[in-house]
Amino acid sequence: MNLKKRLENVKDRINKAAFKCSRAPESIHLVAVSKTIPANRVREAIEAGVTILGENYVQEARNKFNALGTYPVSWHFIGHLQSNKAKYAVRLFDLIHSVDTLKIARELNKQAKKVDKVQDVLMQINISKEQSKSGSDIENAINLIKDIVFFENLSVKGFMAMPPFFNNPEKARPYFIALRNLRDQIQKTFPDVILNELSMGMTGDFEVAIEEGATLVRIGTAIFGERR
Ligand SMILES: *Cc1c(COP(=O)(O)O)cnc(C)c1O
Repeated sequence: MNLKKRLENVKDRINKAAFKCSRAPESIHLVAVSKTIPANRVREAIEAGVTILGENYVQEARNKFNALGTYPVSWHFIGHLQSNKAKYAVRLFDLIHSVDTLKIARELNKQAKKVDKVQDVLMQINISKEQSKSGSDIENAINLIKDIVFFENLSVKGFMAMPPFFNNPEKARPYFIALRNLRDQIQKTFPDVILNELSMGMTGDFEVAIEEGATLVRIGTAIFGERR
């Protein structure tokens, strides 16, 4: 299958999943995860209709942006962000999915202020409580957001999580439900902050994520093929 066919196939599956749970397909945004994919392939994806790119590494994204920055696409950061890259991140990305510490939030706020930007962010939650995973602890999430909402140059839009990898997508469902429940709970505490976005679901499990309320699905392999 070529890239265009793959992309159409993914969009079709998104629409079907939305239909199945009576959601508007427009409420689900496809983030095409282009980490490790060379610029010429990413260009092909944009020309085939991709409108949001998800990148994991700031330097790699900067290089691609130099080649593709004139295309009207939105760039999202979905990887683990180090403080020393915050400066570039606020210049490149429309949405940063992976804010998980006060330290990185503070640095992003500072750098966004310098370029007179209000940076949209999501809070990444370690929903599976795996030691190795990035993301704020569930217990800490409320404290972190309490601080973040005071930063004038950050705007929190919702949450992101990555369940463990399973061969059976049904096994990821409880984690998607847990993220949505956490959002609902935090939303009650902060009624003035609109926490609509749920970034969850990848190639192996995005249909289940959509059924549980995903508004951003991050899909790489199903669009670009296996990464090398
Ligand atoms: C690589 C990656 C994805 C995409 O994974 P696929 O299984 O290729 O769809 C999504 N989210 C994050 C955070 C990633 O690092």
